[in-house]
Amino acid sequence: MPDQGLPPEGRFVGDPLVNLYQNRIKQLIADLGRNVTFTLIPHQIDCPNCGWDYSQNRSNNIYTSNSSGVNFNKTFPTGQRCPVCQGRGRLEFQRSAVYKCLIGFGPAPEEFDYKFYGLEPTQVIRLKNALAIFEDLDKSQYANIDGFECEKITIPRKSGLRDLAFVTSYWKRKNT
Ligand SMILES: [Zn+2]
Repeated sequence: MPDQGLPPEGRFVGDPLVNLYQNRIKQLIADLGRNVTFTLIPHQIDCPNCGWDYSQNRSNNIYTSNSSGVNFNKTFPTGQRCPVCQGRGRLEFQRSAVYKCLIGFGPAPEEFDYKFYGLEPTQVIRLKNALAIFEDLDKSQYANIDGFECEKITIPRKSGLRDLAFVTSYWKRKNT
């Protein structure tokens, strides 16, 4: 039986209130957030200075001249190790990204299952971000938070009122 004292279903929380709430959190992240540097998956390219050995999955130790840049063009005798990729056949470029995050140390036990992860509140850090950086967060395994090298514990969780607008992730300090 419908409760006469309440507005019809779907009208409890109107758009203005939802928007107000979402905007306040966005504002909090912008105003109180601190920059966190995330280590992203390295960008890999085939070495432009040598060929690929498909059976060994590494450089074939033969110089190729289709170099894409002067830095990558170093001749070497066939059979010796390619000096550009050190024989790996691929080049890796480290990538990182800096995002402003709402940083919370030691989230409440109702929020984070310390027992399950075998961690203490002093070791756990919660990051809250706008949903826009979800992909990068999902792919990052490490981050520097307030000068501490940290490791991601959980997969990022999307959250929001009605519309998903935020992403929450949990991290722990490395070597703790
Ligand atoms: Zn090479």
